[in-house]
Amino acid sequence: MIKKIVLSEFAEEIIKKLEAAGYEAYAVGGCVRNSIMEIPVSDYDIAASSIPEETKKVFQGYKIAETGIKHGTVTVMHKGNTAEITTFRTDGRYTDYRHPENVSFTPNLKEDLARRDFTVNAIAFSDSKGIVDIFDGVKDINANTLRCVGDAEKRFEEDALRIMRGLRFMSVYGFKAEEKTAAALHNKKHLLKAISPERINSELCKMLCGKADYLYPVLMEYPDVLGEIIPEIMPCVGFEQKTHYHNLNVWEHTVKAICSTEPIVSLRLAMLFHDLGKPFCFQFYNGEGHFKGHASIRSKICEKRMKELRFDNNTFQSVLALVKRHDMIIKNDNVILKKQLNKYGENLLFDLIKVHIADDMAKAPTAQGRIEEYRSAAEAAKNIICEQECFSLKKLAINGNDIVKMGFKGKEVGAALDYLLNAVINGKIDNNFNSLIEFLVINKEKM
Ligand code: ATP
Ligand code: MG
Repeated sequence: MIKKIVLSEFAEEIIKKLEAAGYEAYAVGGCVRNSIMEIPVSDYDIAASSIPEETKKVFQGYKIAETGIKHGTVTVMHKGNTAEITTFRTDGRYTDYRHPENVSFTPNLKEDLARRDFTVNAIAFSDSKGIVDIFDGVKDINANTLRCVGDAEKRFEEDALRIMRGLRFMSVYGFKAEEKTAAALHNKKHLLKAISPERINSELCKMLCGKADYLYPVLMEYPDVLGEIIPEIMPCVGFEQKTHYHNLNVWEHTVKAICSTEPIVSLRLAMLFHDLGKPFCFQFYNGEGHFKGHASIRSKICEKRMKELRFDNNTFQSVLALVKRHDMIIKNDNVILKKQLNKYGENLLFDLIKVHIADDMAKAPTAQGRIEEYRSAAEAAKNIICEQECFSLKKLAINGNDIVKMGFKGKEVGAALDYLLNAVINGKIDNNFNSLIEFLVINKEKM
């Protein structure tokens, strides 16, 4: 049964205006797919028989950006709304596994739908014409099936980015690749090498932020595809840890840990990288597997691969910080927590706690005993912040100038402040100006 498709007012307005000018126009791609699935639509793509020059004429008085005029795309903006209008087109020969040598405009909607990647993305809709679904995309949506339009291997050879898009659509929407599409995802994975790191990065992040229940099977079924981007994944697949902490092999553990965190890029990436160094430092003695030197290996892998994938510095730094410290000690202890809040800052500490919880959730049930402790540590840390307790120099009731006035010079000033902060955190003294001065005078010699 086809569900009723309701387009945004703006998309309807665009289609009606094009039709009134004598052209054909349809909503296509993600907006139709998502409407049928009854989930929110992120952007409206309109396919039209008008060529860009004609489209621009129809929308005189609207703000127009020539976002991809060579490929037939103009973006129309009006009163805060945006829609991309692309002329019906067919793609020429592909020579670099990504870009067609040329595109040709066509008056034929069917040809335009045939160039699209997956059947679920190749459905067109307009109020006047209804659904145009020549590749049975609606049936595939209803059966949760991801299927290439046409021959899957050829489609991935034309443009290997579709391989990453495929994994992304599965992990975000819960589709399962049908047999030939699944086989082609595996068989053509090596072509990903031809795709720019920026494009891979963007698809990878969207994929990793899919719903855990959808992401899990994708990561379990396609590690070889991801291994083209991050080769250290492959040695983890099937690598038994032989320790009583784990009942899963390294890749199974990694996947479960990824899926146990919130869909936030830095957390999901941190879990992806957190154990990738293990197969490179495995030792077996006293009946148990050990991973000495793991900390520096995992950091190096994370650094190398994130740089290769051109991650922005912020994401890179947060992920690396989490990967480096994913096994540090975290306890529900106010003194330790205040020191950690001071050292790592609020955001990193809370993320580290989340990473610890996700990591433990993916361990053997007998090794999950610390999860409650981590949860209560997070509560305690929130409390410290809410109560405005002192854990940093900023919150200390005395500053450098006050210390200088007491006769301290140069490095002594910083040392005195640190000494006082430490005493406050350890509960030796209250954080008020007079007590701090007094404490400093009495303990001057001990510093
Ligand atoms: P999203 O919800 O992320 O916007 P989308 O399916 O709309 O998903 P877009 O990247 O906006 O994805 O592309 C719009 C449409 O253009 C797709 O649905 C698909 O029909 C087509 N398309 C986009 N990229 C490709 C590609 N690399 N190969 C073939 N068709 C593509
Ligand atoms: Mg879209």
